[in-house]
Amino acid sequence: MNSAGEKGRWGAGGGRGGRHAVVVGGSLAGLLAAHVLAGHADRVIVVERDRLPDGPQPRPGVPQGRHPHVLLQGGQVAMESLLPGFLAELREAGAPRVGMPSDMVMWQTGRWFRRLPATTHIYTGSRAQLEDLVRRRVLANPVISVLEGTDVVGFLGDASRVRGVLVRDRSGDARAESRPLEADLVVDASGSGTKAPQWLAAIGAEGPQEETIDTGLAYASRVYRGTNGALDGETRGYYAYPDPEQVHAGGALPLEDGSHLVIVSGLRGDEPPTDDDEFVTYAKRLPHPLLHRWLDEAEPLSPAFGFRRTANIRRRYDGPGHPAGFLATGDALCTFNPIYGQGMAVAAMSAVALRDALADRRRTPTTRRVQQALLAASRLAWDISAGADRKMPGAVGTAIDGGPADQVAGWYLSRVQERAPGDPVVGRAFRAVLTLSAPVTALFAPPVARAVLFRAPAPTPTEPPAAPEESGARA
Ligand SMILES: Cc1cc2nc3c(=O)[nH]c(=O)nc-3n(C[C@H](O)[C@H](O)[C@H](O)COP(=O)(O)OP(=O)(O)OC[C@H]3O[C@@H](n4cnc5c(N)ncnc54)[C@H](O)[C@@H]3O)c2cc1C
Repeated sequence: MNSAGEKGRWGAGGGRGGRHAVVVGGSLAGLLAAHVLAGHADRVIVVERDRLPDGPQPRPGVPQGRHPHVLLQGGQVAMESLLPGFLAELREAGAPRVGMPSDMVMWQTGRWFRRLPATTHIYTGSRAQLEDLVRRRVLANPVISVLEGTDVVGFLGDASRVRGVLVRDRSGDARAESRPLEADLVVDASGSGTKAPQWLAAIGAEGPQEETIDTGLAYASRVYRGTNGALDGETRGYYAYPDPEQVHAGGALPLEDGSHLVIVSGLRGDEPPTDDDEFVTYAKRLPHPLLHRWLDEAEPLSPAFGFRRTANIRRRYDGPGHPAGFLATGDALCTFNPIYGQGMAVAAMSAVALRDALADRRRTPTTRRVQQALLAASRLAWDISAGADRKMPGAVGTAIDGGPADQVAGWYLSRVQERAPGDPVVGRAFRAVLTLSAPVTALFAPPVARAVLFRAPAPTPTEPPAAPEESGARA
């Protein structure tokens, strides 16, 4: 892609009868990118290594799908703008819409959140269901086709331009030959384990600089049906966030069938077990026995699944010297520590950025400009997860050292965190930023800054609050 504004302006088209785009990976970022590109290409081929299920089923290419996947407000807005009516479909399919902080029992930095009226909502249904709905909507477009059960194993092209991909059937035949699939644009949406840096190197093209911050956080998740009523009715879920003093996190979030997906997490060296009994015992490490007691009585409905690759990784393709005709998006561009629940939202926000960059009539959408727009779409999420993870004990990586400005911001943010659970004004701004629906500057708006700089933290409940506060407490 040198220029790719609209049909007719995009790439050479070669002898293939039109402009072709190839998207590597048919998960959320790939599907949403394909949806946008279909407005600019004659043909979009999504190459996906899995055989795609005919319904909301987990699949091997997305092992994280067994773990909680909340859709934050910023992602909801982006999804709806890409696929109008999507949120109504999600609700119709039964995905719980949970109000924050009213519907949840939440703990952070030594405090319980007051259950004030909701200022934001999250969707907590299963990852498989959400992906299934996106897949159905996107693949209904006849411009888009999927090459299932097929691996991308390399790129075509040279240092100046990526001209397609090499694909190989996953037939199980190790001798199967790879074959070329030419394209005017290749989009890498193959997730955090992307091999694009190696494939670029193999054609002599410049790869990315990588920024990493790894806390060694590990997850274990398991589905339960509650029996003691603590997470029914007005209390729909529970969440305890980690911080440098309390490094364990845990939560129970409602799924579409009335069960809860429970997660416990810990850092390197104290990873949560996937053994059935030990999973429950591990919940004792949380700052309050609520989740442990609930688990002790609840009925497990699945085995426990673990997950350990949770480093923040940002691949910088936005500088000069990278080949034309290649973009990276989703986790392949920027992977976040999943504890902050941002990746799907950023995949959707990136697709909106792609759409807007390609539609911008004032500026030629060069590869570099579009890649910069994709990076910008992930910046807030990166600042949140990298900023928080830098402070965690044992964190390692190339981007671990923040500058002096980060230290001042860190001081201010820790005061925000102390006040968010009890102060309605600070809490609203904090949630807006954390759910990617307001920029960080929302935390510096005058009423918020006054509370953060000059007021002591407001009192918070001494025990997990069992019910939402009355509307009289509205901010
Ligand atoms: C434990 C965990 C919990 C998470 N929780 C949340 C959450 O609460 N909220 C949230 O918003 N996000 C969450 N995320 C992040 C979220 O899963 C991703 O950001 C999201 O799936 C978008 O990723 P993606 O489409 O870029 O990549 P992925 O979803 O990882 O998909 C990559 C796709 O590429 C395919 N592929 C890979 N290599 C090849 C190849 N060579 N050839 C062909 N196909 C290939 C794979 O099969 C897969 O389909 C979580 C992540 C993890 C790990």
